[in-house]
Order: sequence, then structure tokens, then C-alpha cells
Amino acid sequence: MFMLRRCFLMLKHGRMDNTSRWLSTEAGRLAGKVALITGAASGIGKATASEFIRNGAKVIIADIQRQLGEEAATELGPDAAFIHCDVTQESDVSAAVDYAIAKHGHLDIMYNNAGVTGSVTNTVADLNLEEFDRVMSINVRGVITGIKHAARVMVPRQTGCILCTASITGISGGISHHSYSISKFTVAGIVKSTASELCRHGIRVNCISPAAVPTPMVLSGVSDIFPGKDATQIFEIMRGSGTLKGVDCDAIDIAKAALYLVSDDGRYVSGHNLVVDGGFTSFKTMEL
Ligand code: NAD
Repeated sequence: MFMLRRCFLMLKHGRMDNTSRWLSTEAGRLAGKVALITGAASGIGKATASEFIRNGAKVIIADIQRQLGEEAATELGPDAAFIHCDVTQESDVSAAVDYAIAKHGHLDIMYNNAGVTGSVTNTVADLNLEEFDRVMSINVRGVITGIKHAARVMVPRQTGCILCTASITGISGGISHHSYSISKFTVAGIVKSTASELCRHGIRVNCISPAAVPTPMVLSGVSDIFPGKDATQIFEIMRGSGTLKGVDCDAIDIAKAALYLVSDDGRYVSGHNLVVDGGFTSFKTMEL
């Protein structure tokens, strides 16, 4: 009886209050925040832009694909805007950050997400170094340039949140995909290195490492990575080799992880590489 009464009182005065507080902030976890997302014209970036807007943020879509980026901004509504940006060009990245501030007054979230797979080489002896440089200039130089310019405007405010997209190929090595894999190991390293400096300024830096997500990058490039196979077969292989039963990865799964990391829910998380792979890498490790 005493316990029942205690539960009732907790519900009435404590937990219900907490629950309603949670519910009231749930819809607006990014209310008042301004986010800049590179590579947001499609795939993971676009899904994340949509999720951030749904949670109250204003989002700048920065992408090299002008038409697709403008269409994405129109589709996502008045809280989205597009700016053309090639992340390999420092002047473009700097201009995108300045655009966010000119439009909204501040920048709270910088998501360095743009990336390419590059063409596949079967052996390191076959590695095309020009292609290696191209992949590194987008996946690595683009990321550190984004962090540099985010820091430029976030350090004076002593607050901010930086996120990057790495990959499980930057954890376990890549399937004959050296340039991409090396670039993603480097992204995880950049996150560690910059997080340790920027935490002193109240700025968190994290990355997400997805496994295969059905985005244009994977759907169009899968036959290069796995000759003779289509995307459906690859996702079947993943399902059969240790990912969560009954769950197929979608870009929204990465967007939800991104939301956690950039919102106050993740306020004490920095320098972290959040693996979102349905258990795929755990399974591979267990297998070894
Ligand atoms: P995607 O091809 O749908 O999106 C990538 C976006 O980046 C495109 O809109 C493209 O125009 C843009 N982009 C490319 N080069 C650019 C440049 N120089 N400047 C600005 N924008 C540029 O692919 P995605 O799967 O959504 O990829 C997003 C990120 O996720 C990438 O960093 C990718 O490496 C990473 N990732 C993807 C997967 C996956 O399975 N899809 C897995 C792990 C990591």
C-alpha cells in the first residue's frame, strides 16, 4: 500500500513533471539553433537536414550539386536554404559559414558530411594516387576546412557543436577501398585531435560511423565496390552477416544519431566516434 501510494505521488509530482518537461522539449530539441550541413543535397545529409528542421533548427544546405541542393531546400521548406559550396575550396566553405551568420546571426552546428567513395582499386599496388588525392581533398581536407571555419565563428561565442561523417571502413579497414578507408580513419583522427582543443572553448566535436546506408552514393556505386552485385544483394549480405534482425538501415537512422550528438542530450559527449551499424562491426570482431 505504501509503495503504491509512493508510486502515485512520484507520478503525480515527480515523474509526470519530468515526462511532461521531456515531451515539451522533444519537439524542439534544436529550437533556435542554426546548422550548416555539407553534402546535404542528398542521402544522409538531406535526411539529417530534414530531422534537424523537424526539431526546430534552421538549416543551410551546402553542396556542390546546385540543382539538387536547391530542390532539397525547396522540399524542406522555409527553414532550409541552399548555398553552393565545394568543400575542397576554402573560400567556398568560409563563404558558407559567413552566409549562415549573415542569414541567421549565428552558427551553432557544423556538420561536415560531404564525401565521395572514389573509384575502387583491388590492391594497394594498383592505387591511383591522383584518385587518392581527389578523395582525400573532399573527405579529409573538406572536413578539416569545415572545422577550421566553424571554430573561427564558434570560439568567440565559446559554444558550438561540430559533427562529421566517418565510416565503419575507418574502423575495420575497407574492402579493397583504400583511398576511402584511409580518408575515414583520418576523419576519426581529426575529430579526436580537434575535440581535445575545442573542448576548452565549450565546443564539442564528434563523428558518426555508419555501415552501408541506401543512399545515392551506395546505390550507384555498389557495382564498383562489389562487381556483379546490386544494392539489394549487398543489403541482403549485410543482413545475413550479423546486422540487427528485422531492421534495415535507413538514412534516418544516421540522422537520429546526429540529432542526439548535436542536441543537449549529448552535451557531455565529445571526441566520440558513434558507430551506427546494426552490430555489423561487433559481429566481424567476434568472428576474428
Ligand atoms: P550521397 O552521395 O547521397 O551524398 C553525398 C553528398 O556530398 C552529395 O550531395 C554530393 O553532391 C556532396 N558532395 C560531394 N562532393 C562534394 C564537394 N566537393 N563539396 C560539397 N559537397 C559535395 O552519399 P551519402 O551516403 O549520403 O554520404 C554522406 C556521407 O556519409 C559521406 O561522407 C559518406 O562517405 C558517408 N558514409 C556513407 C555511407 C553509406 O553507406 N551511404 C556509409 C558510411 C559513410
